[in-house]
Amino acid sequence: MQRISLDYIVVGQGLAGSALAMHLFRRDKKFVVFDLPNKNDSSHVAAGLFNPITGRKWVKTWKADLLFPFMRAYFKDTESLLNRRFFYEQNIYRPFDTLYEQNDWMAKWTEAGYTSYIDSLYSEEKYYGLIKNPYGGLMLKNSGYLDIPAYLNAVKCFLKEQNSYQHARFIPDKIERIKDGIVYRNYKAKKVILCEGTAAKSQKLWEFLPFKRLKGEVLIIGTGKEFDVIFNKGVFIIHLGNGICKVGSTYDNIIVDPGPTAAGKKQILSKLAKFFKPDFKVIGHTAGMRPATQDRRPFLGMHPNAKTFVIFNGLGAKGVTLAPFFANQLLNHLENDIQLDREVDIKRYI
Ligand SMILES: Cc1cc2nc3c(=O)[nH]c(=O)nc-3n(C[C@H](O)[C@H](O)[C@H](O)COP(=O)(O)OP(=O)(O)OC[C@H]3O[C@@H](n4cnc5c(N)ncnc54)[C@H](O)[C@@H]3O)c2cc1C
Repeated sequence: MQRISLDYIVVGQGLAGSALAMHLFRRDKKFVVFDLPNKNDSSHVAAGLFNPITGRKWVKTWKADLLFPFMRAYFKDTESLLNRRFFYEQNIYRPFDTLYEQNDWMAKWTEAGYTSYIDSLYSEEKYYGLIKNPYGGLMLKNSGYLDIPAYLNAVKCFLKEQNSYQHARFIPDKIERIKDGIVYRNYKAKKVILCEGTAAKSQKLWEFLPFKRLKGEVLIIGTGKEFDVIFNKGVFIIHLGNGICKVGSTYDNIIVDPGPTAAGKKQILSKLAKFFKPDFKVIGHTAGMRPATQDRRPFLGMHPNAKTFVIFNGLGAKGVTLAPFFANQLLNHLENDIQLDREVDIKRYI
């Protein structure tokens, strides 16, 4: 059998593996991606939202000023290379809960640091007939959503055209270690980059890393209403077209049932009922596991005792914004020996 020499084998083609593969292509590297997706993988369930101001306290997300411009450039470039559309920039409207919250934001929305992310402030009700927002709200910009299924599919088709994709499970036990890398099936590679999402948690190789699985559920609803803004108040509502919306999501670290549950559905519906006015019908319900970490920072780097094996994982609830930037940072590290950010380097656990 003819042996193919590669720089890298990439395992997994979720948000992490896809960004890595596209950066490898741009860098002219020889690689192959192994992926055997299943419907509960995080990337197949995720809403795809990118939101610069998050959390109950409405704070700018970690490294937003670095991550957001990088993410935008990456997805725009990838759209034009693959000749497909999947990156949708859309404002997010966050209704205020109280007059106090409105006053607070009136004082600070024009402050330096926020101007790139806040488009405008409304002190009176907006979108009358769609949502309850008696105190107005904040309109965010530099936000939107990635149509993840369309993106993953476009990347997969592109990789197939390049002969760089294998629809197969990568089985570590079948690796043969050699002096300058590994041999796996008919491939010889210098390094293996594992982008396996929550599957990495059960592997002995990475048992020193504090993974955390965070379950999330999402509903698809039919509303008959069309709007060109994302609403976010306890839950997000993304209009996908023709009155169909994605709504979610829940956050559960005690996982009794990995699939969609009645309790998850009830939780989303009760939050939705608090501010969304139109009648709707639930037409879909999915669940998945976020590959999260104890300190909420990604896991990047070479295994301390087996440097052929590299991890790119722990994207948690923010894979869309984290994957493009940190895939590039990981390759700068592997190719040019540039140090990883200490916050994401797995050395923090050694
Ligand atoms: C309900 C929900 C809502 C979310 N909403 C958002 C959101 O709005 N915005 C956002 O940015 N993020 C969101 N996320 C988080 C986001 O989905 C994750 O951060 C991201 O998808 C993680 O990507 P990944 O590639 O690391 O892992 P995964 O998506 O799990 O991909 C790993 C891939 O590797 C494959 N694999 C694993 N082991 C092997 C093997 N041995 N051989 C072959 N293939 C293998 C798997 O089958 C899979 O295809 C959400 C997650 C959930 C669950």
